[in-house]
Amino acid sequence: MFDEIAKTCRPRSLVRGRVARIDLCSDCGCVSVHVGPTTLRMDEHTLRSLWLTLREAAEALDEPGSGVRAALPIRGNA
Ligand SMILES: [Zn+2]
Repeated sequence: MFDEIAKTCRPRSLVRGRVARIDLCSDCGCVSVHVGPTTLRMDEHTLRSLWLTLREAAEALDEPGSGVRAALPIRGNA
């Protein structure tokens, strides 16, 4: 969908975080999510849905018994 539009997109930086940068093209509404060498292009609806899924995953990781905490190195005790 965005492949044809991509050549004419004029993205501007929307948000820049520690591990990701989000750009928005105000011409077509394409959102680009840059994480390291990977870029995901999507529309706003998909971005919002992805955000809900990521939040859900983060909450699941915080659940006791998820097993993740035991695998993480203990901070500050090195
Ligand atoms: Zn565009």
